Amino acid sequence: MLNGKVALVTGASRGIGRAIALKLAENGANVAVIYAGQQEKAESLCRQLRELHVQAQAYRCDVADFQQVKDTVAAVSKNLGGVDILVNNAGITRDGLVYSMKEEDFDAVINVNLKGAFNFIKHCYPGFVRKRAGRIINISSVSGLMGNGGQANYSASKAGIIGLTKAVARELAGRGICVNAVAPGFIDTDMTENIDKTNTLLGQIPLGRTGKPEDVAEAVLFLAGDGAAYITGEVIRVDGGLAI
Ligand code: NAP
Repeated sequence: MLNGKVALVTGASRGIGRAIALKLAENGANVAVIYAGQQEKAESLCRQLRELHVQAQAYRCDVADFQQVKDTVAAVSKNLGGVDILVNNAGITRDGLVYSMKEEDFDAVINVNLKGAFNFIKHCYPGFVRKRAGRIINISSVSGLMGNGGQANYSASKAGIIGLTKAVARELAGRGICVNAVAPGFIDTDMTENIDKTNTLLGQIPLGRTGKPEDVAEAVLFLAGDGAAYITGEVIRVDGGLAI
């Protein structure tokens, strides 16, 4: 269904991004795997993707670095062809109450989670406009919808992703490009491994379980496919009902 399309997935070496890369490749897309430091994981994912008979290439790139992102998008376009599906998934947390949160922890989270998405949208934008087609899928969070105490920086970055998504959806709609966000709840990855998943947490999730990276990947696959051609500026929660 995505045969011949090029998907660029940031933060694809682990967790949700890895599941997204696999899901898009299973459906025929060639994948650019963007990672920050975990080269072995990124390379091993690429080997796995190639076994699915698609092209896959890993690129080390700090999403917060404007020039690195520009160079990476140029390299992907040269090696795999222009990007058809951009998934802004890379993200970090630096949790703490505002009272004790350091300035650098606020800046780091905004720079990776929010500016990182802007950087990739900015540098993929001309290619999308030339093709008059494309999909942008930004990974937000229920923290951006509800606000989460102890995560002011993260919640702000993820709420910012929703504003960014809606603004760019309006900008690019005339060119046939759809821009949407996915807001996961508690998903089992490295990011949440230290969160105490007691009955208190599970009690807040109507479906009674934490999510799997594949749950998020299914929503991204839907938004990347032909079935979502008339959906733009939307935010899909994948949270077991947490933020109802
Ligand atoms: P994760 O397991 O911690 O993986 C983070 C990924 O982002 C890794 O691939 C990492 O690369 C990459 N990354 C981090 N900083 C980067 C940077 N500066 N430049 C490029 N890549 C960078 O996280 P996850 O749980 O899969 O989360 C993925 C996304 O979903 C994030 O945006 C997160 O905020 C969002 N989300 C997660 C949950 C959840 O419950 N897990 C809930 C809501 C939203 P390396 O491997 O190279 O370090």
